[in-house]
Amino acid sequence: MKALIIGSGLIGTTSAYFLARRGWEVTVLDRQEGAGRETSFANGSLLTPSMPEPWNAPGSWRVLLASIGRSDSPLKLRLKALPHLGRWGAAFLRNSTPDRYQRNSIKNLKLALRSLEVLGELRRETRIEYGCGTQGSLRLIRDRAALERALEWGEVLRAQGLILRGLTADEIVAMEPALAPLGTRLAGGIHYPFDELGDAYRFTVGLAEHARRAGVEFRFRTPVTGIEVRQGSVTAVRSGGERFTADRYVIAAGSYSPLLLKELGLEVPVRPAKGYSLTFEHPRLDPPLRLPVCDDDFHAVVVPLEGVIRVAGTAEFAGYDLSLPQSRIRNLLRLVRQVLPAAGLERAQAQPWCGLRPMSADGVPIIGPTPLGNLWINTGHGHLGWTMAAGSGQLLSDLLTGGSPGVDPADYALARFDGAG
Ligand SMILES: Cc1cc2nc3c(=O)[nH]c(=O)nc-3n(C[C@H](O)[C@H](O)[C@H](O)COP(=O)(O)OP(=O)(O)OC[C@H]3O[C@@H](n4cnc5c(N)ncnc54)[C@H](O)[C@@H]3O)c2cc1C
Repeated sequence: MKALIIGSGLIGTTSAYFLARRGWEVTVLDRQEGAGRETSFANGSLLTPSMPEPWNAPGSWRVLLASIGRSDSPLKLRLKALPHLGRWGAAFLRNSTPDRYQRNSIKNLKLALRSLEVLGELRRETRIEYGCGTQGSLRLIRDRAALERALEWGEVLRAQGLILRGLTADEIVAMEPALAPLGTRLAGGIHYPFDELGDAYRFTVGLAEHARRAGVEFRFRTPVTGIEVRQGSVTAVRSGGERFTADRYVIAAGSYSPLLLKELGLEVPVRPAKGYSLTFEHPRLDPPLRLPVCDDDFHAVVVPLEGVIRVAGTAEFAGYDLSLPQSRIRNLLRLVRQVLPAAGLERAQAQPWCGLRPMSADGVPIIGPTPLGNLWINTGHGHLGWTMAAGSGQLLSDLLTGGSPGVDPADYALARFDGAG
């Protein structure tokens, strides 16, 4: 069987790898020069089953409305994006009831846990070097009531297989001495031993190389300009004057997936949620930061990757805008300085970046068939695309090849948006 995949980010590349391993002939088209050059490029580098919650938490609409016109809000809605949110926005709000929020969190947790198992197997098989760290992550919480709420919610996740341990401020500093200057300001925190860290871009490039050796053909600098459909099936994908044909077509184009699908009359509820990162070369921090840290108050992560420190965060509904405003960069800089005041981090050392998280309306990825017989999708991973990449690639290939997936595919099917959405 022959598959054609659009997109070579984390999701398209893992899908290609697993399909090739099952003996399929696979071609991947991407408009960039190489794999992993868009949202998978400089993300937060954390694999976090500990953060399975969609961003439409109960009451999030209040935070979004309050964010209009503010430049320092972690979750931000820009007025110019409003017209594009339409039905997606309505479904986003509908999914923010406590029941749905919990159900959707658990679906994400299941795929995230499965994904880390699959990633572990991949690491053993391929020996890809991507700065992998498996010591877990630390969550910092300044407010006592917030800590209690987080531990209570932690019990819901523990019942589904997540391991976590509540920590006092002293225990946090003992575990991660680089956080000593922050110690007295913390109410406490949580250690999540299952969380991992690693450079998503290096992983994607490394896995693409393994996929290539397994027979996958990557066609870079190949923007998809059209998809041909006849009698309810895709017959070809076009890039300029070239036509590509296959038995099955997979759209894994991240935030751009809904644009490609819209041309075919298919509404897939995914919209871009912009986020930023700053990467600091040669940080002077003694003792160095060893564990990745998630700061609850700032809605951001601070991560030690090999030789650099990366801070990532914020979600902005701003359409497909990829500008890097100084105000957002200053925000992240201010924030990382509060977490690591002794590191002397300066703007001049920082490499700024932004990306568009493909956010589905219920915060759960969309993996599986579409109403067009031979067209499949793997997208909508939002803030968890690195966490869920290996599991999502494998799930897609299981569904296409008749393998038995380790999760319930119905939880991730596009069909769940029929009716109540
Ligand atoms: C600031 C930030 C921090 C994040 N931190 C984390 C984190 O710590 N942990 C985590 O799990 N996730 C994190 N994420 C989310 C994660 O990065 C994304 O979910 C993931 O990268 C999505 O991967 P993807 O393959 O779907 O999309 P992409 O990586 O964007 O890949 C899509 C590919 O499709 C190609 N494409 C699109 N349209 C076309 C076309 N018409 N023709 C040809 N090619 C096309 C693009 O070139 C691109 O290569 C973060 C995201 C951001 C923005």
